[in-house]
Amino acid sequence: MKLTFLGAVGTVTGSRFAVSTPAGTVLVDCGLFQGPRQIRERNWADFPLNPADISAVVLTHAHLDHCGYVPALVRDGFTGPIYCSPNTARLVPIILRDSAKLQEEDTAYARRKGFSRHAEPKPLYDSIDAEAAIGLLVPREFGDDFPLLDDLRCVLDPAGHILGSSTTTLTETTPEGQRRLVFSGDLGRGNHPLLDPPTPPVDANAIVIESTYGDRDHADFDAEIDEMATVISRTLKRGGTVVIPAFAVDRTEVLLITLRRLIDQHRIPLAPIYIDSPMALAALDIYREAVENADPELTTSAIAEGKALIDLPTLRAARTPEDSKELDAGHSQIIISASGMGTGGRVTHHLKAFLPDPKSSVLLVGYQAAGTPGCMLADGAEQIKIHGHYVPVRAEIAQIDAFSVHADRSELLAWIEAGRTTPGQIFIVHGEPDAADALAAQLREELHTAVVVPEPNETVAI
Ligand SMILES: [Zn+2]
Repeated sequence: MKLTFLGAVGTVTGSRFAVSTPAGTVLVDCGLFQGPRQIRERNWADFPLNPADISAVVLTHAHLDHCGYVPALVRDGFTGPIYCSPNTARLVPIILRDSAKLQEEDTAYARRKGFSRHAEPKPLYDSIDAEAAIGLLVPREFGDDFPLLDDLRCVLDPAGHILGSSTTTLTETTPEGQRRLVFSGDLGRGNHPLLDPPTPPVDANAIVIESTYGDRDHADFDAEIDEMATVISRTLKRGGTVVIPAFAVDRTEVLLITLRRLIDQHRIPLAPIYIDSPMALAALDIYREAVENADPELTTSAIAEGKALIDLPTLRAARTPEDSKELDAGHSQIIISASGMGTGGRVTHHLKAFLPDPKSSVLLVGYQAAGTPGCMLADGAEQIKIHGHYVPVRAEIAQIDAFSVHADRSELLAWIEAGRTTPGQIFIVHGEPDAADALAAQLREELHTAVVVPEPNETVAI
């Protein structure tokens, strides 16, 4: 089989990999490019393959950088099945509908303000395209062995990254025998409070592995949680508000579980906790259903703990924009709101309201890309610009690194080593160039095999 790297090369977004055999072509992941403009512009380039010639798509998980291009593919002629795990099939519709709506809103705004370079700006795709893509989703249980092409079969296994996330094993049958190619997707760390550790890539001939944190090891988890408890505690005691910008899917749930544990251990006081993001609330329902239905994807201890695991007594939903605005007059409360880097969404209003307040605090719990408000706050900015106004930063700012859902350097290596045999070829993707190169160097040294950081659109034989 042949493998072509259509995205997630030299960057952490736009995961798209084409696999071709004599019987046809499939895609593993079909994500959006995100981040700075020059990366986002790649979404607008012609897709390198005719979508009508692709037989099937496999999605490793519901994050936008892995599934967000599918509506464009469908609009441009793809009609095949889109396979993914059952929980990914539940989360993808939330993500794609939100993505289409944002693009429609951005286009309407550009049209109104006349700042688009195009006379008649159009969204990358719209809600109709998103619904067409959602209609093609076909859930497959973990461990099921199902055909993609006459000579190619697929198995999804848990990746421990977010609910529904999977590794993807493709097995090609040729006259000479079988060839096995494993995609890591995004790999969890083995410490997710709801999910089992990632499944190792057993007897793979080749591996495609992510490298988001390929050049570093994560900070000590307990020390980070200690710091988080201290900041929350003193903020609430002085009557301030804790604002936590958070990605809508998974981060919110992991935060809630952590907050509940800290309350149970009397390390933080009981206070109202508001989830202020429609998408986060929709995703929370999917996680709740998984816990209530004892979904086999969850760990036995998470199932045993049950509903109380996520549902705190002081949990409140801010559903409407009015609910959200009311929070800005409150105090002694915790607000979890998107976006995770403070680049947009409802959290920007909360930052505007609480950054000037020395009693309040902002907890940064995710990756903060360069140039974002979150990154400026982490770097100690004394003022930041929100909605055209400069806002002074008097609130306490803390960066907590405990919530990463990506395996670090040591964890990535351990995952490959757990796979019984060393693969003949390893391809490093989904990382900034420094992280990908560092991981490649380390894997070459430790595993004595061919380790490659591919070029964009490079094709290799497996
Ligand atoms: Zn992901």
